[in-house]
Parts: sequence; C-alpha cells; structure tokens
Amino acid sequence: MKIVLLGPPGAGKGTQASILSEEMGVPRVSSGDLFRDHQGRGTELGRLAKTYMERGTLVPDEVTIRMVMEWVDAHERAFLLDGFPRTRGQAEALDEAMADKSGIDVALSIRVDREELVRRLTGRLICRGCQATYHRTSSPPSVEGRCGECGGELYQRQDDSPEAVVKRLEVYFEETEPLIGYYRQTGILREVDGEGPIDEIKAAIAAALN
Ligand SMILES: [Zn+2]
Repeated sequence: MKIVLLGPPGAGKGTQASILSEEMGVPRVSSGDLFRDHQGRGTELGRLAKTYMERGTLVPDEVTIRMVMEWVDAHERAFLLDGFPRTRGQAEALDEAMADKSGIDVALSIRVDREELVRRLTGRLICRGCQATYHRTSSPPSVEGRCGECGGELYQRQDDSPEAVVKRLEVYFEETEPLIGYYRQTGILREVDGEGPIDEIKAAIAAALN
C-alpha cells in the first residue's frame, strides 16, 4: 500500500508513522530524511538542496520531487511518505511523476483541533543534557525544570513559544487545507481523529486503511 501521511505539527504524526511502518513493515521516509541522506552521500541533488538551505530559502519542489521519486522507484510496492507532499502543488507534481505507475493509494490525514495543537506544542520541554522530551501537563518531569533521566535543565525551544506555534500552525493550515481538498477530490482521502490515547488513534488508522 502506498500511503501519504498528513497532519499538523503536534498531531502525533511522527509517532503514528513509526508505528505504521514497524507494524506493517512499510518503508517510511520524510523529506528531511532524504535531504540528510543525499547530503551524507554527497549526491548532486544533495549539493543542490544544500545551496538553498544555506541561503535560508526553501528547497524548490522540483529538487525534492526528484529525491522522492528516486526513493519511490526503489520502494515501488509499498511505502509511507511522512510530511510530503506539504502543498497542493507538490501533490500534483508527485501524481504527475507517478503517472506511469500505479499512484498513491491513500492520503491519511490526522486531524487535531487547533487549540489542542497549541496546548500540545507550547507545553513541550526538552532536556539540554540528553534531549529527552517532557510536557508541562501530559508528561511533566517529577522535579520541576529538571530531567528525570540525567538531571539536566529543561527548556522550551524557540519554535515552541506561543507566538512561534501560532505562526507555524497558520502556515500549515494555509498550505495544507488545499492539499486535503485535492486528495478529497481525487477520492483517496481518509481522515482520522488524532485526539485520544495513542492506541486508539492507531486502531482508527488501521480501520481507515482497511
Ligand atoms: Zn536529560
């Protein structure tokens, strides 16, 4: 099965992607993984992507699509694309690039209320020592401000400040609503409620894929 996984930051997409990938044995990749892999191997595409990243500009879709297609060609039968495509334009380009093979089977969207996303994202704390993650309300450290693993200091990433979170979500919803509309039109969209215990969400995803 060829799956595209969609979901806003804070929706638990990464967690569900690893569960899906492990339990179904489906290879998974994100555009970040591809950038790192290509740069690590020093490929032409990796060098190209790096020039944009160093300038602080977005890597053009054309470059990302070439990386994705190379990976897709090596995993033809089943795969999970995590966080790609992000825009309707990328989705159309992906469908075009896959036109001569069977296309994506399911676009799985994990939905979480915007207020809940803000709560989840702004509550995240990270250990300076070992990078362990905590949450102010859902998994607080036993000693305030201290890591239970290594005793290190906990901090909030700049990206997780309330202002930054609101901005990130705005960008996401602006780009992604049209993407969800696109997959609804092509008839492969499945939506899953991303609020609740991890196991329930996992079961809902399994049901949506059947
Ligand atoms: Zn720690």
